Amino acid sequence: MDFINKIKNFLDKDIKEDEYALVDDPIFGKVAKVKAPDKWVRTTCGYCGVGCGMYIGVKDGKAVYSKGDPKHPVNLGTLCPKGLSEHKMVTAPSRAKGALIRKDGALQQVSWDEAFNRVAVKFKEISAKYGSKAIGVISTGQLLTEEFYTLGKFVQLGLKTNNYDGNTTLCMASAVMGYKQSFGSDGPVGCYEDFEKADVIMLIGANIADNHPILKLHLMKNKKNKKIIVVDPRKSKTAQMADIYLPIKPRSDLALINGLCYIILEQGWEDEKFINERTTGFKEFKKHILNNYKPQDVAEITGIDVKTLYEVARSYATADSAMSAWTMGVNQSAIGTDTVSAINNLALITGNLGKEGSAPMSITGQCNAMGTREFGFTSSIPGYRDYKNDKDREEFANIIGVDVDLIPKERGYAYPQIIEAIDRGEIKALWVVATNPLVSFPDQNRLRSALKKLDILVVQDSFLSDTAQIADVVFGAATWSEKEGCYTNSERRCNWAKKAIEPYADTKSDFDIIKEFSKYFDGVHEMLYKNIETPRDAFEEIKRVSKGRLCDYSGMSYELMEELGGIQWPCNEQYPKGKKRLYTKEMPCPTPDGKARLLPVDWKPLSEDICESFPLILNTGRTVEQFHTRTKTGTIGILNDLAPEAWVEMNELDAQKLQVKSGDRISISGNRGRVDNIVVKVANTVREGTIFVPFHFNKQLINAVTLPEFDAKSFEPNYKQCAVQLHSSRVPQGIKLQKQEIMGEIAYQKEQNSIKSLHQKEGISS
Ligand code: SF4
Repeated sequence: MDFINKIKNFLDKDIKEDEYALVDDPIFGKVAKVKAPDKWVRTTCGYCGVGCGMYIGVKDGKAVYSKGDPKHPVNLGTLCPKGLSEHKMVTAPSRAKGALIRKDGALQQVSWDEAFNRVAVKFKEISAKYGSKAIGVISTGQLLTEEFYTLGKFVQLGLKTNNYDGNTTLCMASAVMGYKQSFGSDGPVGCYEDFEKADVIMLIGANIADNHPILKLHLMKNKKNKKIIVVDPRKSKTAQMADIYLPIKPRSDLALINGLCYIILEQGWEDEKFINERTTGFKEFKKHILNNYKPQDVAEITGIDVKTLYEVARSYATADSAMSAWTMGVNQSAIGTDTVSAINNLALITGNLGKEGSAPMSITGQCNAMGTREFGFTSSIPGYRDYKNDKDREEFANIIGVDVDLIPKERGYAYPQIIEAIDRGEIKALWVVATNPLVSFPDQNRLRSALKKLDILVVQDSFLSDTAQIADVVFGAATWSEKEGCYTNSERRCNWAKKAIEPYADTKSDFDIIKEFSKYFDGVHEMLYKNIETPRDAFEEIKRVSKGRLCDYSGMSYELMEELGGIQWPCNEQYPKGKKRLYTKEMPCPTPDGKARLLPVDWKPLSEDICESFPLILNTGRTVEQFHTRTKTGTIGILNDLAPEAWVEMNELDAQKLQVKSGDRISISGNRGRVDNIVVKVANTVREGTIFVPFHFNKQLINAVTLPEFDAKSFEPNYKQCAVQLHSSRVPQGIKLQKQEIMGEIAYQKEQNSIKSLHQKEGISS
């Protein structure tokens, strides 16, 4: 709490002393005079997927205060540093002021008509010459659900390109695909209350203390004699809370989970009744696990000893309720989808689904990553409908009143495929909405050379992000607090985010930008938005589109969301106040037989492992003070004072080899790029031979080094593991490896044994 108070004090420091006089405030009691807003507007945080309820204090038409909503079930009045300073983001000097066009090499403010007209003419020209699919669109998890829905309709049915994806593919796609292959549909199955009710909580690749800090509240509310197990190659702040910490070798999580399943099956700890009644595929699954994931092998792959594996398996399987939660450590992997299914398998064989404290639970990153999954029209047709299912296409076309032939029959390119298509010259125009690939995409050098081939780059953003700064046209958008709609959080809770102030300068809400832009295309506005004037109208259409689907909004209203502190879908006649958990006893999975699928899935070794030139494995991640690529947090003083630049976290043994100490500056090189002048932090939070660097920072651009390898099912990048070298002024050539380190201990021992037996055979003494 000291940390939070420090932030509060910092935020108050620009108040003069005489302004500290206290006045009565209807919501918060006594507050400093200068901070007594004219009004308080109840809303939802626009940063991360936790979805905290809060109030915006408005004074003289400006957002001047951010406070947690004490009645909101997600956060009970608390906020993390980002939420506490969110009002500062609205007036950041990096805001785009309206529509901009590049003229004589510089972005200049123009009328919206000029900007819309310029882009529409170019899009039509490209479409006529190369086909409509030569236009690519990459959106985000940052917009409101109503905006995603409006944008998706325009891109897919108005521009007629299905080469449309979101930055959510960089963080959530593996969870989506893993849920789909295990349960028949996307949709996080549990809720935050499960953290309070579980006997065992296993956090896998999830540093919630930094990335979802308010979730710790729910863990703290758990008064049982609970056991927290943390699986993470880095001893993060979250790992330091663990009862059992498993410092696994990089990307060995899938092998670990399969190994736990082996022990559970070997010991007969599985829940036979649940398996028989609620799952399919058990026989093949069991055979696969028992043939391939013996504890000794798993111990060698993961670096976790056999005794600990048995202890963890017993804890998980014999608990009355056990939950697993994961984030990017699992998702951002070339085997991310299958790792998610492995986690689901573990839950299924132990009967941990659809009851209190029992869930395989993905935690989302962005404030509305879920909204785009439900209604974004990227990887599925709105309402979790399938492109390949004619009935789904027809149903959606009928509800919104368009010809069914307009609805695509297949998904277009995913995000990395769009970049590849640009590189090949197939996609000529790119429209980027509220995301910043120039910091967030892997293998930056390749991305930047691809983007140079575009005929036009349009960026729609509230901030002049790194990507906006190289755009031909910028649609400057309103941001959080300046517009209305809803966000869905990690537990499927739809929260109302209200408009508190007018959009900054000449910006417009994303909803208005899309609708107005659609008028520059013959008949499109009339076809798609004839009854949609406001976000509330879009929300009403979403309710109709979702009725009867898993993500059913039909029983919701903005007012009910406000009254209940958000509503977890499905919300309909059967569940008028929403539903905490999916796939409870009375709720079958959306698979043909209503059962969950046990899937044999396999661990795979790293495709880019260490070698003589690059002897360390790089892991990337986040820190609590910054958000994504810092477009929102990069100018907020307190957050930058706390985390001003990237650092490289390294083990003291590697620091000795490199002859450096904390505070020194070094370089990191890899197969694809290099980062210079990065500050060293020596800490035994990482194993020898591994380093950690946060990815937020454009000056120490770690994505210049990361690997362009993607999960074949989800297209999510394998951000977390690639081979690198470190260079210090004292040891510029970097760290040298021992032979067994290069080969891996198992291969080295095998080689030693075969040399030994050869020598014995030939009578040579070793
Ligand atoms: Fe906002 Fe997430 Fe922080 Fe809550 S935890 S205040 S939703 S950034």
